[in-house]
Amino acid sequence: MTILEVIAARRDGGPNTPEQLKYLARAAADLATGAKSEVEPYQFSAWLMAAYLNPLSLQETRDLTAAMANSGERVDLTGLPKPWLDKHSTGGVGDKTTLVVLPILAACGLHIGKMSGRGLGITGGTIDKLGCIPGLRLDLSPQQVHDQVQRIGIGLTGQSSVLAPADKELYKLRDVTGTVASLPLIVSSIVSKKLAGGAEMVAYDVKAGSGAFMPTLTKANELAEWLIQIGNDLGLKSVAAITDMDQPLGRTVGNALEVVEAGEVLCGAQSRFYEHCIAMAGLALNLAGIAITIGEGQTLAAQTLANGKALEKAREWIQAQGGDPEVWEKPDVLPKAPVILEVVADRSGWISEVNAGKIGEFAMELGAGRKRAEDNIEPAVGLEILIEVGDQVQKGQRIGKIHARAQQNTSQFLQAIKIGPDPVQQRPVVLGYKGLS
Ligand code: URA
Repeated sequence: MTILEVIAARRDGGPNTPEQLKYLARAAADLATGAKSEVEPYQFSAWLMAAYLNPLSLQETRDLTAAMANSGERVDLTGLPKPWLDKHSTGGVGDKTTLVVLPILAACGLHIGKMSGRGLGITGGTIDKLGCIPGLRLDLSPQQVHDQVQRIGIGLTGQSSVLAPADKELYKLRDVTGTVASLPLIVSSIVSKKLAGGAEMVAYDVKAGSGAFMPTLTKANELAEWLIQIGNDLGLKSVAAITDMDQPLGRTVGNALEVVEAGEVLCGAQSRFYEHCIAMAGLALNLAGIAITIGEGQTLAAQTLANGKALEKAREWIQAQGGDPEVWEKPDVLPKAPVILEVVADRSGWISEVNAGKIGEFAMELGAGRKRAEDNIEPAVGLEILIEVGDQVQKGQRIGKIHARAQQNTSQFLQAIKIGPDPVQQRPVVLGYKGLS
């Protein structure tokens, strides 16, 4: 087999055989680990563009996913109490859900070892958010994750070249070749990492809207169906909530700011972000069999936040990984931006749009996200959004804050906000579920 045959098959609409897809995954893993590879990055780029234009079928996606999952080591959770559950978001603006949901689930008795990613483009990453906490170690080995989960119920680490290395290389190339937003490529990327991480079941948070990879509900539903189908076929029991990503998730976008907001919810604050965390925790508790219905799971999640058990678990978690456990209640240890600017409404009316995509782009330009995988982020910068869709505002009312390194023009913030003359109803937090039996 030659790479030219593999590229030509894709260029002509496929199919790529299981052997060809294994060959690609092996070669991508070799590039990721610095071994000699039979395929050059520019040849991968050609294949990726062909795959973007001639999408892989369900069968091809399943074969590629299995090959990518087997391209490196797999976490062995043997010895930990079952179920081995993971929760995964397809990526959104202001998405700090893991920081709240993981402690809730662990406080309810689940054992969760998790590998999280760094943010790329407008969608943030859990590792960048937690990376703002001084001293916190996010490079645990699979064995260290295992041992910590055994001890306290939670262990979280960043991506490495050890687990699903093929995805590391393919994702890097997709990012610079305009081929990220391909449904089969997203599915193989996500599901391969869940399999390599050792999970047996996954509760997906599939985002729909301007701040997500899937802008429409139809596309998000399709992504959820593929994640579930391919996960189930490869032994991963999967369910999904489709959730709103037309407006940013919560009041903050930017790494340290989001840790503060997660801490507020752990300490009892209630908001649209709180509702989202309850929804995702309820789904996961139901999937794990701890709650008979999602509603029962949500009630249990709310109780776990209200009685302080989730906060206690979150403190234990941060301490175990070397950070200051007080961070949730006393966020003074987090970095702060030197410049904070207020944004005021330029007219009176009803908020009809807070465009998550535009807010995410602005936050990224401030330095909260990275345009290229090798960029550094600025932990303290970001945006506070003090209004939601449906709110009534008066001209001159404070609607946001910009946390920056230097003076900024507020117009970019205002461009993300639409204020109309009529009352508006906002979309529900959860737009639907997939995969429930
Ligand atoms: N998250 C991933 O891990 N991979 C993708 O391709 C998109 C979102």
